[in-house]
Amino acid sequence: MNKLLNSELRYRRLFEAAQDGILILDAETGLIEDVNPFLISMLGYSHDEFIKKKLWEVGAFADILASQAAFETLQKTEYIRYDDMPLMAKDGHLIQVEFVSNVYLVGNKKVIQCNIRDITERAQAQLALVKSEALLRKQSVRDHLTGLFNRRYTEETLDREIARALRKNQLLSILMVDIDEFKHINDTFGHAAGDAVLCELSRVLLTHVRVEDISSRYGGDEFVIVMPDVSSAMAYERAVRLGEHMRHVHLTYDGQAIDTITLSIGVASLPENGSTRTDLMKAVDSALYRAKREGRNRVICQAA
Ligand code: GH3
Ligand code: MG
Repeated sequence: MNKLLNSELRYRRLFEAAQDGILILDAETGLIEDVNPFLISMLGYSHDEFIKKKLWEVGAFADILASQAAFETLQKTEYIRYDDMPLMAKDGHLIQVEFVSNVYLVGNKKVIQCNIRDITERAQAQLALVKSEALLRKQSVRDHLTGLFNRRYTEETLDREIARALRKNQLLSILMVDIDEFKHINDTFGHAAGDAVLCELSRVLLTHVRVEDISSRYGGDEFVIVMPDVSSAMAYERAVRLGEHMRHVHLTYDGQAIDTITLSIGVASLPENGSTRTDLMKAVDSALYRAKREGRNRVICQAA
């Protein structure tokens, strides 16, 4: 008898001190027999608001275990687990909980024990993690100033696009675009105005590409556009149109007119200039270099 009392006391202490909410229900009637202090403070209902009520009569549980039918499932299934369930506390705020219930016998009476763990913080931390992972993924492929792809992404994608073009026997062209005398813009109008020019050029670039093209800021005032399935003649034409367009854009910053800009553009293509990223990037870079050397404001196709 003493042994039984001791074990009962031990159980009671666990019940009172538990850092999870615990409810004990009569499995026949569904009436709440006992509730521990942790659940009382978690949900903000008083002891009396729980005791001898049916589970679904307690506001917090009304939506989830709203019916006799749901309770019958609880009785029959003997073990139920909801990993992430919203419960509303008495003051109206939502708590995410993990809800586990077990049916067992005490003497010859069947009871249901429900363990309710507050996982709000865990759920919020998980959501924050998912969001920051998505942000990191975005940041790792995008240039933060212009929103275009960054150099790393372009290089990786270029490898894939070259492999695909070779496999399908298709063409591919690359443009390398560099603003002429961009330092002058920075020196005359300030760095912020220079930034605005980079953003405007990015916007114009995007109006000259197709969805399958990859537009990137390769670094500084240099942009690279990868154009799958485009011949060098077509790429040349599009580069000329881009330069023409940019010459006619009236740039302003903070209400102040900024000098119009011109572009030097190099063009290289597969298969004429090679069939690896290194070869093609080298070719497009020397085409751009020639465009600069020959007087800027022009498009040069790398010779085969
Ligand atoms: P060139 O015709 O030979 O290209 O002359 P350039 O003055 O454009 O010279 P270059 O392309 O070598 O220099 C690019 C300049 O771009 C250098 C740097 O100060 C500026 N720059 C690089 N990144 C940024 C940026 O994020 N914002 C601004 N405002 N300027 C940048
Ligand atoms: Mg430049």
